[in-house]
Amino acid sequence: MSRTELAATKRSDLQRSLLAWYAGAKRDLPWRRTRDPYAIWISEAMAQQTRVEVVVDYWARFLERFPTVSALAAAREDEVLALWSGLGYYRRARDLHAAARLIVERFAGQFPSAPEHVRELPGVGPYTAGAVLSIAFDAPEALVDGNVVRVLSRWFAKDAAPSAAQAWAWEVARELVPAPRGAGEWNQALMELGATVCSPRVPDCAACPVAHACAARELGLQAVLPRPKPRKAPVEVELVAFVVERNSKVLLEQRPAGGRMAGLWQFPTVQKSPRGARAAKLFPLELECEIRGGDELGVTAHGITHHRIRLVVQRGTMRARSLPAHWRWVELDALHTWALTGMAAKVLAQAFGRKHRRTRE
Ligand code: SF4
Repeated sequence: MSRTELAATKRSDLQRSLLAWYAGAKRDLPWRRTRDPYAIWISEAMAQQTRVEVVVDYWARFLERFPTVSALAAAREDEVLALWSGLGYYRRARDLHAAARLIVERFAGQFPSAPEHVRELPGVGPYTAGAVLSIAFDAPEALVDGNVVRVLSRWFAKDAAPSAAQAWAWEVARELVPAPRGAGEWNQALMELGATVCSPRVPDCAACPVAHACAARELGLQAVLPRPKPRKAPVEVELVAFVVERNSKVLLEQRPAGGRMAGLWQFPTVQKSPRGARAAKLFPLELECEIRGGDELGVTAHGITHHRIRLVVQRGTMRARSLPAHWRWVELDALHTWALTGMAAKVLAQAFGRKHRRTRE
C-alpha cells in the first residue's frame, strides 16, 4: 500500500480519534482562548525553541504592554528586546517588530488573512504561517514542526534520513489536514500529541489515542523513529564577566550590531578560552574599556547554541577615565527595564542573589 493510500485509509480514523482526545486532554494555554491572529502569532514566535511553561508569562507581559499590532509597531526596538530578555533567539523579537511595522504600513494594522501576505512577513516561515492561518482563521493550512515530524514518522513508520524528514512530513501533513474547516484544531491536536504523549525518547503508547493506527508501535519501532539528527560537537568556552559597581550602579556594555544577541546589554565580558578565530566570534578577547579583575563571586554554566560556556563572575574596577560609546552606568533598580542577555541575568543572580533579577518578580 502506498503512503498516499495509507494516508487516505487512516485519515478519518486518525482525525476522529485524535480530535476526540484533544477536546478532553488539551492543556489550558492562554493563547488557546483567543482567535486574535496577533496574539496567536506572538505565542507561536515565542514557543519556537522555548518551553511552553516559560512562554506563558512572557506572552502575558508582552500582550499587556503591546496589546495590538499598532502598539508593537510604535514601540522602540530596545523596549521590545527588554520584554524579550531571557527568551533567547532575539532575532525573533526583531522580526516581530519589523513585521508589525509592515502590517501597519500595508494593512492598516490588521493582521492579514491571505496566505501570500502572511508568508511575506519578516520571520514568518512555513510553520508560523500554517499555525496562524489555521488557528486564527481556520484556513486549511498544514504545519510541521519537530513534534509533527516525530508523530507522522511514527504513524507511518517512515524511516527518512534526517535531511529528508521535514519535506516528507510536509507532504503527509498537507494530505491529512481537514478542509474546508477544522485545520486549526487538527494542527493543535497533532502538536499536542507530540508534546505530551508521543515524546522523543519514551512515547507513552499505552495512553495514546491513536495507538491502534500507529505503524511504528505495531512494528516496535517507536523508540527509534524518527532517526535523530547528528549533533554538532559542543565547543567548550570559558568567559569572565566583570561586575563593576559605583553608587548603586553597574557597568554594562551593549553587544555589537549584526552579531549574536545584537543590541542587548551584558556585563563586560571577555573570552578566556578557546582563543581561536571560531570561538572569538562569540565574545571579544579584550575589553574596549580597561577593567581590573577583583574577587571571584561565583561560577555558572550557560549554553549558546552548541557552545558550552563556563562563566566566571568576578568583581571589577574600571580603570579608564571615559566610557566607550556603547557602555553605560545603569541603576541596579532599573536593570529590569533593560534588554539584558540571558547570561547577564545569571551574572546578576551570582553577584546579587534573586533581589536584582532582570524580570519583574
Ligand atoms: S502509539 Fe506511541 S509511537 Fe505511535 S503515535 Fe502513539 S505515542 Fe506515538
